[in-house]
Order: sequence, then structure tokens, then C-alpha cells
Amino acid sequence: MNRLTDKVALVTGAGRGIGAAIARAFAAEGAAVVLAELDIATAQATAREIAGAIGNAKVLAVQTDVTQSASVQAAVSEAQKAFGPVDVLVNNAGINVFADPLTMTDDDWRRCFAVDLDGVWNGCRAVLPGMIERRAGSIVNIASTHAFQIIPGCFPYPVAKHGVIGLTRALGIEYAPKNVRVNAIAPGYIETQLTHDWWNAQPDPEAARRATLELPPMKRIGKPEEVAMTAVFLASDEAPFINASCITIDGGRTALHHE
Ligand code: NDP
Repeated sequence: MNRLTDKVALVTGAGRGIGAAIARAFAAEGAAVVLAELDIATAQATAREIAGAIGNAKVLAVQTDVTQSASVQAAVSEAQKAFGPVDVLVNNAGINVFADPLTMTDDDWRRCFAVDLDGVWNGCRAVLPGMIERRAGSIVNIASTHAFQIIPGCFPYPVAKHGVIGLTRALGIEYAPKNVRVNAIAPGYIETQLTHDWWNAQPDPEAARRATLELPPMKRIGKPEEVAMTAVFLASDEAPFINASCITIDGGRTALHHE
């Protein structure tokens, strides 16, 4: 359990769900972890839980709004003050905005892009100068299978997630000569509050849940810990030649041909 020893990691949206699982897994692998989260109460609760579970864990919760570049810069400064320069950034914070394209409000469009794409760029921009200077760093962007495939009624979330893949590839290529790797993870359905909120918004939540479980070839949805394992791998020195790439975690659903 020392695959991230001596590394400092900052995870956005780490108060709950996939981000919290990544923070836990990073701490278990020896990283110092900053939970950069909009809801400071959930971040502090998760930080306390990690500190209680892992002896000598180095964890810090910092109130952060990824839509505001100054807020993300401040979180990176806090991380540096507490633990040293950030070696690993996970841009995980994200929201679902699912609307009909032509009746969607301008505010919905902006809210989606502000969190799901600007938020990722704000994170990258805050850590890249330091990583470039030290000629070392790993950025992991949490995209989605919506970055490759479109489900009707989910606009404009997939547009922003396609952008996350574009950003990952562009920055991965731009800074490869500086030994900074930028990769993405594309999860399929993962059981978090986000998924429960979506089921609960459907006319028959239980039927929606059952339908979701029927979709993937493995007949189940993923767990946040299953995304976290891949984030550990991409963040670690076990993936030194993986760059500008994306790993899909969906039990094979994206590869399934629907007849
Ligand atoms: P959750 O909603 O459970 O967690 C997201 C976290 O991000 C929340 O703690 C939320 O805080 C925080 N957050 C939201 N807006 C901001 C912001 N502006 N600044 C900082 N933090 C913010 O989501 P998941 O864990 O399910 O999703 C995590 C990522 O994975 C997202 O990028 C999502 O798009 C992606 N994903 C999820 C899938 C799934 O099936 N769950 C599938 C594919 C991709 P608050 O509680 O205050 O809103």
C-alpha cells in the first residue's frame, strides 16, 4: 500500500461519490490528499473518516469552487503550504445537466460547462506551471462514457464531456516533453448520489434502477472504488508511458453492439 508514497494529490469534488473513493484510495496508498470540494462539510467529514481509517494519513479539506479559477488556485496554494507541491491532480467534480436542447435555458448551458469543462481547465491551469517546472506530474480527468456516446435527453452534459477528452488529449500532447501526463477515465454507470438523483427524477425510480442494471453486459453498475483503482494506477509511477489517453470503466457496455 505505498504506490503513491511521497506524492501530494488534489482531488476536486472529493466530499462524496467517486471523488471521495479516489481520496480514500490515494491516502491508503500513502499520498497526502487535499479534498477540494464545494461543500466543505462533506469534505471535512470524508477527511475525518479517512484520517480515522488510515493511521498517519495526511488529509486536508479545502472549500473550493472549480468554476472559479481563483478558488482552485487558492486550493493548490493551500495544498502546497500543507504538504508541498501538487504531484497529482484529479479533476473529478462534475454535475449532470440533462435537458432538451431547444427548451434548455442559457443558465443550464453555462452551469454545465462552468463545472464540467471550465472546472477541469481551471484545475489543469492551476497545477501545470509547477508540474512543468518540476518536470513531473499526473493529471487525471474524470470524463464519462457520455464523452463517446450520446443518450437522447442528456444534453448538454455529453458535449462538455467530449470537451474533457479534447482537453485531456491537447494538454497531454502539449506537455508530454515536460514529462507531465494528462489522462482521462470514462466511467459508465457508477452507483453514487448522482445516479440515485437521476433514478429518483424518473417517473418510476425503481423501474429506472432495474433498467440501468440490465444495460451493461455484466448486469450491474460500477462502484466508486472501481474507478478509484484506475485513478491510483494512472496517478502512480506504474503508468509512466500512458499519456493523452482514456480508460473506460463500464463493464464492457460501450463495446456492446445493440441489435
Ligand atoms: P456526486 O454528485 O456524487 O459528487 C460530485 C461532487 O462534486 C459533489 O461532492 C459535489 O459537491 C462536487 N461539486 C459539484 N460542483 C462543484 C464545484 N463547482 N466545485 C467543487 N466541487 C463541486 O458525483 P459522482 O461522484 O457520481 O461523479 C463524479 C464525477 O464522475 C463527475 O465528473 C461525473 O460527471 C463523473 N461520472 C459519474 C458517473 C456516475 O454514474 N456516477 C458516470 C460517469 C461520469 P456538492 O455536493 O456540494 O454539489
